[in-house]
Amino acid sequence: MRIAIIGAGPTGLVAALKLTQKNHQVIIFEKEKYPGGLMAGFKNKGWDWPLERFYHHLFTSDKTAIRLINELDLKEKFFFKEPKTSIFKNKQINRFDSAISLIKFPYLSLKERIRAGIATLSLKLTDNWPELEKIKAKEGLIDLYGQKTYEVLWKPLLKGKFGKFYQQISMAWFWARIKKRSTSLGYLEGGFQILIDKLAEKIKQNGGQILLNHEIKNSNELIHWSKFDKVVFTTPTETFLKIMKDKLPQDYSKNKVLPKAGSYKQELSQFKMMGTINLVLSLKESFLTEGTYWLNINDKSYPFVAVVEHTNFIDKSHYNNQTILYVGGYYPQNHRYFRAEARKDERPEGKRHFKMKKEDILKEWLPYLKKINPTFNYQLSIINYQLFSSLYAQPIVPINYSKNIPAHQTPIKNIYLANMQQICPWDRGLNYAIGMGKKIANLIENEEI
Ligand SMILES: Cc1cc2nc3c(=O)[nH]c(=O)nc-3n(C[C@H](O)[C@H](O)[C@H](O)COP(=O)(O)OP(=O)(O)OC[C@H]3O[C@@H](n4cnc5c(N)ncnc54)[C@H](O)[C@@H]3O)c2cc1C
Repeated sequence: MRIAIIGAGPTGLVAALKLTQKNHQVIIFEKEKYPGGLMAGFKNKGWDWPLERFYHHLFTSDKTAIRLINELDLKEKFFFKEPKTSIFKNKQINRFDSAISLIKFPYLSLKERIRAGIATLSLKLTDNWPELEKIKAKEGLIDLYGQKTYEVLWKPLLKGKFGKFYQQISMAWFWARIKKRSTSLGYLEGGFQILIDKLAEKIKQNGGQILLNHEIKNSNELIHWSKFDKVVFTTPTETFLKIMKDKLPQDYSKNKVLPKAGSYKQELSQFKMMGTINLVLSLKESFLTEGTYWLNINDKSYPFVAVVEHTNFIDKSHYNNQTILYVGGYYPQNHRYFRAEARKDERPEGKRHFKMKKEDILKEWLPYLKKINPTFNYQLSIINYQLFSSLYAQPIVPINYSKNIPAHQTPIKNIYLANMQQICPWDRGLNYAIGMGKKIANLIENEEI
């Protein structure tokens, strides 16, 4: 079969690998000038290893990803470490990544801490997510942990990830995070870019093609695709709907989610996403000097939710001895950080998503960074910095999500959709993108044209 895949993120690359291994002819169309999607790396002058545009690591539970790493002969380069995770609250950094650190956590009473430990263990042990997805995380968490612990620990997490949508999130989303998390975090020598490169190399060896800088914009391009037997969209759902808008059926309702039988577009449009902004700073000296890798910001007055000192996880010698600091957050897609108006004067022709200037974001965020580390002298310390953003970073996961997510087969014959909004009950991640890439390849193999 001749198969077109739209998007060279992990899902598209893995689908292409599996399909080319079965001797299908595959072409991937990728809008960016690099493959890898959200996981892709970049390299500054003097660095030995590329670095992900957005912070990335694996958990020990990410078995599908680890299997692929082994399959691609990258086993020797894959390693686990136990970097420090902490919470920033009341101007203090408190370690929060083990039973001992929970016992020492100062913002909860002993009773609350014991209850938190038992509650977390009970979530780790249960597999009954179908029951948990019927309730909202806010209610489930207050029930399980108590009001105070919810306010101190979990409300900031939910608000930080989902902003004004936080009250809609399902308890199953929270359960999935607890269930799959490990204190050991996995990384690859050379960064995740080497996984991307290896996938791309194998696809090409098998006769597949990856066309970079090739954005698919509308369904007219389907005319050229008539030579394809199957087309797989691994783009966000919104992008798929835009591209295919003329071809979508009007009277489709998969499972009567809507009160009346609505269009396929209406059904899919219910699923929303949060965007993200990541500022990556290269510094002359450490910022989280007490050694934390991942710092959750549990203070709603801050404009970001995480400060991640990558070089407290991975040795700085790979980055020319620079400290690498990610500062990031999740924002609704209409947030001013993403709005074109922010830079109307410089907006390139036809570009809808054009983010705020990195200089403006840094200026806005610097006072907060100073509050975390009052000795931080950015003028002396900063070597350079980059801003990365995506409008499609985190699916909003309401209750009963599994019952409503769209199938990979779309109502248009031989056109498939596979993206992070179709992952359930787990939270989005490389492991599940790889699993979905494999699944879609199997589906295509086993379906008639
Ligand atoms: C801030 C952040 C941190 C993360 N951290 C982790 C982590 O620590 N561990 C982990 O496992 N996962 C992490 N993830 C999730 C992981 O990056 C995703 O699960 C994974 O990249 C999803 O792969 P994908 O191929 O489905 O989608 P994407 O990576 O989004 O790829 C989709 C591709 O489609 C392309 N595309 C879109 N529109 C078009 C078009 N019209 N024409 C052609 N091409 C198009 C895009 O350019 C992109 O390359 C993180 C994600 C974010 C945002």
